[in-house]
Amino acid sequence: TSGPEWLTAWSDDDGAARVASSFASVVGGAAEGVWSAPGRVNLIGEHTDYNGGLCLPIAIEHRTFVALRRRDDGVVRLASAQRDGVWEVALDGVAPGTVHGWGAYVAGVAWALAGDGHDVPGFDAVVDSCVPFGAGLSSSAALESAFAVALDDLLGLGLAADDAGRARLAAACVRAENEIAGAPTGGMDQAASLRSRARHALLLDCLDLSVTHVPYDASSAGLELLVVDTRAPHSHVDGEYAERRDATHAAALALGVPTLREWLDADRSVDDAVAALPDAVSRRRVRHVLTEIGRTRDFVTALTGGDWERAGRLMDASHASLRDDYEVTVPELDTAVETARSEGAVGARMTGGGFGGSAIALVPAGTAGAVATSVAAEFARHGFAPPAFLTSDAAAPAARVTPV
Ligand code: ADP
Ligand code: MG
Repeated sequence: TSGPEWLTAWSDDDGAARVASSFASVVGGAAEGVWSAPGRVNLIGEHTDYNGGLCLPIAIEHRTFVALRRRDDGVVRLASAQRDGVWEVALDGVAPGTVHGWGAYVAGVAWALAGDGHDVPGFDAVVDSCVPFGAGLSSSAALESAFAVALDDLLGLGLAADDAGRARLAAACVRAENEIAGAPTGGMDQAASLRSRARHALLLDCLDLSVTHVPYDASSAGLELLVVDTRAPHSHVDGEYAERRDATHAAALALGVPTLREWLDADRSVDDAVAALPDAVSRRRVRHVLTEIGRTRDFVTALTGGDWERAGRLMDASHASLRDDYEVTVPELDTAVETARSEGAVGARMTGGGFGGSAIALVPAGTAGAVATSVAAEFARHGFAPPAFLTSDAAAPAARVTPV
């Protein structure tokens, strides 16, 4: 038998060679450069972004690579190793509701930068990626962010040079995804891909989108981060997210605060918020959001103090809250987390929106393979689809790979 499936990250050289050679064969000639952007996992702070809360993603080593060359006719032509055919649009026709398919994420970035007053030309581009799609690891933000830094670089905008500029690129990517691709997204994914630092987690304050870089080096603590792509089928996800968003926003209104986060900022307690709400479901939803914001703060304190055992317990508590109070886990996520824990993980939790997607586990260095084998066996025993696995340190943000 072949053992569990591993999704390995490509080196910069491998990724650049792939897109450069497919550029030569699909488009012809040489690209002006190659850029790449990472996917992400959120260590803790889940479902708090739309409540003004805190999240703590890391960029992963898995990246999306783009080779690009400008055109002078305002046309965007794209090819992806992950999709058949060529996707094409004239930039002056791009507006909300007018473009469909995967190229909308890319055309949307050009559209958003043009909306910021930049003179954005058409381009030919080729994409290839080792970030799995729809696994909750944010392949969409990796795609947008790779194009954002490519255009920033070629147009000489200079935004990628500092965090304030990268925050503007991230905002353009969010508008691309919301308004052109038509997918609701809170902003964590784009911030992680564009504003992270290698060997640091990114503490993102969703109230003002300010960031703090928190040193994160699991290997120095004798640990590694295992990611389990559960491959669980997503169903009814949009409706479920909308229910959570509406319930928590209604609760904030009932509590008289603009966001649930600001209840905590006003020094009010979780218990008082819960007691003030009329129904059991909104009490559970609010308890998750408020306690999760607290856990994220505590996790940062634990990381800063090198207390990985405490960090692991906070991950466990986050998962329990997402399972019992927020009700966004599925049996595959619970099984991945429970198995990882019984195999020695210091902490494990679902990551991303839930209802499928991925789980993460902090495991002793050198044990990821054994934990993965056990998780895969447990999945088989339950009759779940085979999961896939990867490990990652906190990687570098979106950047140019080859010189222009
Ligand atoms: P996630 O971001 O969690 O992976 P999403 O549903 O938000 O899942 O985004 C996945 C979509 O992004 C894909 O269906 C596709 O449209 C687009 N996409 C991401 N990466 C690529 C790629 N390398 N090539 C083509 N399309 C991509
Ligand atoms: Mg996405």
